Amino acid sequence: MISYNLTLPIILFIFGACIGSFLNVCIFRIPEKKSIVFPGSFCPVCKKNIPFYCNIPILSYLFLQGRCKYCKTHISMRYPLVEILTGVFPVFLFFKFGLTPPGLFWFCFICVLIVISLIDFDHQIIPDVISLPGIVIFASSAFFIPEMSPRDVLIGIFAGGGILYTIAFLYFKLKKAQGMGGGDIKLLAMIGAATGLKGVIFTIFTGSVMGTAAGLGALIFIKGSNRYLKIPFGPYLSFGAILYIFFGEGLIQWYFRTITG
Ligand SMILES: [Zn+2]
Repeated sequence: MISYNLTLPIILFIFGACIGSFLNVCIFRIPEKKSIVFPGSFCPVCKKNIPFYCNIPILSYLFLQGRCKYCKTHISMRYPLVEILTGVFPVFLFFKFGLTPPGLFWFCFICVLIVISLIDFDHQIIPDVISLPGIVIFASSAFFIPEMSPRDVLIGIFAGGGILYTIAFLYFKLKKAQGMGGGDIKLLAMIGAATGLKGVIFTIFTGSVMGTAAGLGALIFIKGSNRYLKIPFGPYLSFGAILYIFFGEGLIQWYFRTITG
């Protein structure tokens, strides 16, 4: 019987939740082109500054019962959920990679994907100020990830940008309508910089399968004109990329074993 020491996972969770608290600020302020550093957190309704003891990830939300300390305005459940989500990933990454440079690299990458996904979900945009520097920053996978070489990085960027660009171009020619935003193209180029050609193909495949499933689900279960609502593609691509980090290699091998019998 192996006994696991839980101290490190708990510390990693708290660390991640604090980063998640910062990601909430980024998700809220980047689309409004506001500084993510200054001023400190304040209530969007009564504009009062939130003191540090009311800004503790997850716990403050529970103590304040999801309301602003001053004006009692309801605070979205999403804030603590993003903190929990961001807290869980360092723990998962620790169990898969240990405390290693690849683990740290993937955590940064996942944080950026969380921010991009929620901004895309809220505003149907993927800001260039995240995706373009992201392509450059995550090209450092060549240093951090043993399987990635500078050549893999370049192929990943061009495959990620190129494949989606081609699909978007053909869609535009056929339907005379914009099906996919330029933001998705830059996001996939960024994913390509981090994960290479294999990651790009895996991400497009799983992202499309999930996007299609969700679209069909909306058609079946949602009544009225809402069901044709344009679903942003960014969150599905991000989910596909995160799936690749944890299970990509295993799923690819399983897939090829299955189709070759
Ligand atoms: Zn308030």
